[in-house]
Amino acid sequence: MSIERTLSIIKPDAVAKNVVGKILSRFEENGLKIIALKLVQLSQQQAGEFYAVHKERPFYNDLVQYMTGGPVVVSVLEGADAVSLNRKLMGATDPKKADPGTIRADFADSISANAVHGSDSKENAEIEVKFFFPELSR
Ligand code: ATP
Ligand code: MG
Repeated sequence: MSIERTLSIIKPDAVAKNVVGKILSRFEENGLKIIALKLVQLSQQQAGEFYAVHKERPFYNDLVQYMTGGPVVVSVLEGADAVSLNRKLMGATDPKKADPGTIRADFADSISANAVHGSDSKENAEIEVKFFFPELSR
């Protein structure tokens, strides 16, 4: 077990539904410490850059539209195995396939409006933390 950092985004659908507090509680109750937090309205350019890995996917334009449709809450979570723990708490990308009790099972509407983002590897976590919180880079 190692102490890691991971990037979380509470997406526009979840912010609009007033479940920011409930989602942040899931992190805290499961041993993840919130070490940075902000509410931001992403520009098309920021959302496009953040999800650039998906540029060739058919849903890329819709994804950028959706992520800029309202404010998001971006945080850095720190704790033992933070990257995989956060992914476990989030549940599968498609909320219909997410395990009961996961954030997406409880709060997501669809595979596209799926409540949260979480870094999928330690390497990507470092890149994503730097993207939103350059002052935290070490
Ligand atoms: P995220 O990167 O947001 O944490 P993820 O790693 O579970 O989610 P990815 O495959 O990286 O899933 O897809 C990124 C995002 O693109 C998804 O969270 C979802 O919002 C959207 N997405 C993924 N697959 C589809 C799809 N088939 N149709 C529509 N939107 C999709
Ligand atoms: Mg992903």
